[in-house]
Amino acid sequence: MTTIGIIGGGQLARMLALAGYPLGLRFVVLDPAPDPCAAQLCEHIQAPYDDPDALDRLAERCDVITYEFENVSLKGLERLSAQAVIHPPLAALAESQDRLREKTLFQKLDIPTPRFFAIDNRQDLENAPQILGWPFLLKTRRFGYDGKGQALIRTTADMEAAWETLAEQALIGESFVPFQRELSIIAVRSRSGRTTFYPVSENVHKNGILHLSRSRPNDSQTGQAESHIRRLLEHLDYVGVLALELFDVHGRLLANEMAPRVHNSGHWTIEGAETSQFENHLRAILDLPLGSTEPVGYAALVNFIGMLPNLTDVLEQAGVHGHYYAKAERPGRKVGHTTVRADAENTLEDRLHHLLGQLP
Ligand code: AMP
Repeated sequence: MTTIGIIGGGQLARMLALAGYPLGLRFVVLDPAPDPCAAQLCEHIQAPYDDPDALDRLAERCDVITYEFENVSLKGLERLSAQAVIHPPLAALAESQDRLREKTLFQKLDIPTPRFFAIDNRQDLENAPQILGWPFLLKTRRFGYDGKGQALIRTTADMEAAWETLAEQALIGESFVPFQRELSIIAVRSRSGRTTFYPVSENVHKNGILHLSRSRPNDSQTGQAESHIRRLLEHLDYVGVLALELFDVHGRLLANEMAPRVHNSGHWTIEGAETSQFENHLRAILDLPLGSTEPVGYAALVNFIGMLPNLTDVLEQAGVHGHYYAKAERPGRKVGHTTVRADAENTLEDRLHHLLGQLP
């Protein structure tokens, strides 16, 4: 029986397992928490992500190893790669762990980005308004997610305050992009190089955390998004699902960041595509034929952050599918989502409007 090892036991691992069981796969997750939500479904090795013994045990138990988040120690995985098959490639993980490296790679591959430069000292920060204009963003190069580790700088006073909290870490400055829309594209590439794309998602964030994504089959920017992500897939000789987050500025797409894993903005693919991003990630890393990424009507997802609405109220609504992660509720934590689906775009909007009106 084929066994998949996943570094991280959160909701992404849980949804990978839910997609993999019909294919007869088994799963082992490595997670330091005593009761990560994927452990309710999978065998669980409780240890730090970089624990050499635990990684060795995972390699012994599993045919292929993958990961569900980026902030995992590269060193541990590099050592492991001598004895185990790991997908997606560690080169992609290394690029995505550092915003400066990542944006430099985008630039090298002719993928447009916001203006950016490394802020290594106080003088660099002083120079930032001249180079980036006002306002601009100061971000930590590493360990940022969901808007964490970043500050919007509108004034010299903001500059002072941000320097006090962030200066200990390596930083990057970025021009603030007055985008009309945020998009993401999710692609999947198999071991044999076959590549396929999902329809782009149009995303709405609240406080830096994804709130709502709509699938946009036939979006006018699809070609541009596919061309950008294709360059990354080929350059990295990528295997698995890759997500690329983009800002749409009057029809020109600028890349913000990539994620070498299944992505929150693609959760609608569970009910809204022929094959979900989770199943296709597994198919890709196991060198199985990829499934169709064709949309099934129109779909959107709404994230539940911090608390879950009453399940009966959610499921009562037409076209709404619940995904509750069985995690403890805590402010700022992703604890579940719904997919809303419809055969026509205006029906989807009506259903979304109704659902959003019911949420606390
Ligand atoms: P990130 O952690 O880089 O994904 O940023 C989280 C969110 O902050 C993004 O989804 C955007 O809504 C916003 N954001 C990040 N970078 C920029 C930028 N350069 N210009 C405008 N908004 C940004």
